[in-house]
Amino acid sequence: MYIGAHVKASGGVWKAIENGVELGCEAIQFFAGSPRTWAPMVYKEKDAARFREARAASPIRYAVIHTIYLINLATTNEEFYEKSVAALVAAARSAEQLGVDAIVTHIGSHQGAGFEAGLTRVQHALGEVLAEVGDSEVRVLLEDTAGAGGTMGVNFDELGAMIDSVGGDPRIGLCLDTCHLFAAGFDLRTREDIDRALEALDAACGLKRLELLHVNDSKTPLGSNRDRHANIGEGELGLAAFREIVNHPAFAELPGILEVPGFDGEGPDLRNIELLRSLRTDA
Ligand SMILES: [Zn+2]
Ligand SMILES: [Zn+2]
Repeated sequence: MYIGAHVKASGGVWKAIENGVELGCEAIQFFAGSPRTWAPMVYKEKDAARFREARAASPIRYAVIHTIYLINLATTNEEFYEKSVAALVAAARSAEQLGVDAIVTHIGSHQGAGFEAGLTRVQHALGEVLAEVGDSEVRVLLEDTAGAGGTMGVNFDELGAMIDSVGGDPRIGLCLDTCHLFAAGFDLRTREDIDRALEALDAACGLKRLELLHVNDSKTPLGSNRDRHANIGEGELGLAAFREIVNHPAFAELPGILEVPGFDGEGPDLRNIELLRSLRTDA
């Protein structure tokens, strides 16, 4: 696994590269614009060019845009749904502009309408974003959820159904979050646990769909369905789990992005990154 972090991109999008380099990242994730407003981000071409140049000169091998938190691709509220689809498409456009590898999105909640009703909405949303992506290199990654409040993607069958809804389109991939998996009931604390989860993933979606990991410890216990990230080693997963995760051959060529609170509460920091890196037996 090559290790990276969610970084700030305020004050100019190229700062995301600078912030990542400062932390010794080989992969970065950032928001295009504010994650709590609907306004789509359109970069000035000179800013996008500065980002691309900074990246080309950096050791960063993988860059991904996380879509805004407001997005719900399964909502029954029509206005909210339209805004969500527009925001998803806008993220793909930003990704093309910056030349980043992928966008990653939470799916959202069916809000009690049931998985099948939500799936129809997700299917349409994915169709729209794939039309925007076209034959560009940008990948569209669906992220698993901890499973609170009707959120979609709590297991591999649900993620597989979403992939199947767009005919298994090869431009769709998966992002798995270790905290979300654990909270959703997938134990990851031993090599055997991880292998069992990977077998289920392979059966439902195909292992090759997995393109990104969010590497977070969990403040809440196995199966709690709560999405509370903890610093590496400070949560219920613990250091032994991350030693297995960073050294697992299935993850050897995947980016692992930290989205932890940070030991100073300022987000992913050098201490978390170095801690994770120190667990690698090849480091
Ligand atoms: Zn995540
Ligand atoms: Zn989370």
